Parts: sequence; structure tokens; C-alpha cells
Amino acid sequence: MNKKIFLPVILILSYSLGWASFLPISPIRSSDDRDISRGPRRVPNISESLAPDVYQNAGSHPGALFQLVRLVKNQPTPVSGLRITTVVNTRIGLRKIDLITDTNGLVELPSCESSNISFQTQFNETRYSISSRSKFYTLQFQIPCKAKTAVIFKEDSSAGQVIAIHQVIQRALITLAQVSDLKFWSRPIRFVFPADGDYYNNDQVSLTLGHQWDVVAHEMGHAIYDQAAIGEFGGGSHKIDQCYSYAMALSEGWASFFAGWTHIDLRDRDAKFEYLVPRRAPIRFENVPSDVCGKSTNEWRVTSFLWDLVDQNQDGEISQVATKKLWDDLLNARVGSIKEAADQLLKHGWNKDQMIQVWKLNFPQEP
Ligand SMILES: [Zn+2]
Repeated sequence: MNKKIFLPVILILSYSLGWASFLPISPIRSSDDRDISRGPRRVPNISESLAPDVYQNAGSHPGALFQLVRLVKNQPTPVSGLRITTVVNTRIGLRKIDLITDTNGLVELPSCESSNISFQTQFNETRYSISSRSKFYTLQFQIPCKAKTAVIFKEDSSAGQVIAIHQVIQRALITLAQVSDLKFWSRPIRFVFPADGDYYNNDQVSLTLGHQWDVVAHEMGHAIYDQAAIGEFGGGSHKIDQCYSYAMALSEGWASFFAGWTHIDLRDRDAKFEYLVPRRAPIRFENVPSDVCGKSTNEWRVTSFLWDLVDQNQDGEISQVATKKLWDDLLNARVGSIKEAADQLLKHGWNKDQMIQVWKLNFPQEP
């Protein structure tokens, strides 16, 4: 509490003494996203030991083959990149083996000699963890040998909600790995579910629901923005269609851009979110509604501006080059507004005429 009163005093004092450049640009590393989702504010008690919701036999196999999927509106989506361990009986005794689900959520064991085989995982990786307020989640399941099995998570179960968060993290990891060596990601990000709101605070992402992919990705976006030192945080609550501070519009707009970049095809002519900000959903960011504040202090327009910088080309491959350049040129930029970000990009050789055109298109009240 003291910090809030204390800091402006230090900043004014140090500025007058010429010390400003030695101080961190922004002491705030948090975002209060009250307006972003209608998730429950009361935190239910759920067990940290998770299990799949349904098992389905899918034929025979010489060893064992299984596929982890989560149902999204009744359609199976693969659970990839999940590290699981099992203990197998070998000639030299029991041996623990680590396995990882592939891009289709599949794991294959060439041989499987007992009747069943057990697996377990803990959601505690080097770069991230998923936990309740007190414990990491664990998942345990058992599948039959000599069979192909579908291991299914439902959208509304506790396990399904945690798996959904895992899926957002995996998509983000894959997307980030296309543009970065991930060295910027030096501190583990703690995902806490269920929480009393959706917000970000000092390497911790708090979530009310897991299946709201765009809300989860937005909050994760704040954590990535923070670790990559892209820019300042504004602090305080905000509304997506209104204008407020430059820093808040930048940090919120970038976080939503991150959700779009990691989850939506850059060639989508009607790019939009699903759950984010229910009172305005679906949030369309290829075409921003005209009643939205038209200045660069509006987060929705910052998202749309960033999206337009990378989606100009119909060719998916060129878009990938643009996202890499956008990432590289804003990494450690520590900018305070989208205008400063645009200036930074121009310094790195982005086309000025194109930049002005995209600016005018997205910030009509600030030409
Ligand atoms: Zn936010």
C-alpha cells in the first residue's frame, strides 16, 4: 500500500535531480482485467488430483497407443506437449520412463506386457506451472495394454479446465518458438486456477475459467510482455472501448494481440475473439466498431494496429517473417505507448509510408 504513495514522490524527486534514467521505467507489473470475463468471482474448492472424464476403446494394438483429447463444443482437440511418466517392468527391474504427447496428443508404446499401464503428470514445468492457490495439479490415468484408447477431457470438468489452460500455454510456446529462442522467458509463470478474477500480477496469471482461451491467452500475454520487457504497464482497471493512459492501452492491447497471434490465423479477414469482454463479444479486431474511442490510448485499437502490421500479406509465410520482426524489434524496447513502439519499429527499418497508413486506419481521432 505504501508503495503507491511513495513511488510518485521518488520519481518526481529523482527527475528533478536528473536520476530518472537510473530508475526502472515502470514499477507496476500487473493488470486488473475486471471487464475481461464474466467468470465466477467465488472460488470453488476443487481437488488438485485430476483424472480424465471418459475412456474410449478405439481398437487393438501390439503394445499400447493412446490419444489425449479435450472436447471443445463436442469436437476433440489434441492435448499436445504433455509430459507424462510411467513405470515399466524390465528385465533389470522397474524403470521410470518419461513420455510426451505429440502434436496429435498421441503416445505409442511398442510393447506393453501387463493388463494395464498407469501414467501420471504434474503441471510443474521449468517455464510454467498450473496450480490451485496451494498445490500443483496432478493428473493420473490408467489405460489397457494391447489396445488403442482415447483419453477424453470434457470442457466443463475440473480436469478439462486445467487441460484447457495447458493447451493455451502449448500454443503460445509453439508460436513463440517460431520467433524466439525463448531465452527472454527466464522466470517461471504461475497459472492459478480457479481464482477470484482474471488478472496478472508479478509472474502470476490468475484465472476464473480455463476454457476461455482468449482470456487465458490475454492474461498469459501480460506475463510474456513483462518478461520480454516490451513496455510499461498502466495499472488500474480499464474498459476495452474507452480511452485511458498510453501505457495501459499499450499493455492491454499487446496482451490481446498476443491472444490473437497465438490462436488466430493471420489471414483471417474477420479475426475475432470469443469470450473476451462479454459485454462487447465477439471482439472483432480486424474491423473495430466506430463507437470505440479512436485514439492511441485505446487498447482495442492498439490490438488492431499491431494485427494490421503483421497481417498485410496474404501469404502466411511472409506474415511469419513480419511477426518475427515485430517480436525482435520490440524485445526489451520498454516503450511507454504504441506511438513509441511505432517509432521503435521505424528505427528498425519498417516502411514509413505503410506505418502511417496503418496508423491512420486504426487511430482515426489521432492522425
Ligand atoms: Zn489485461
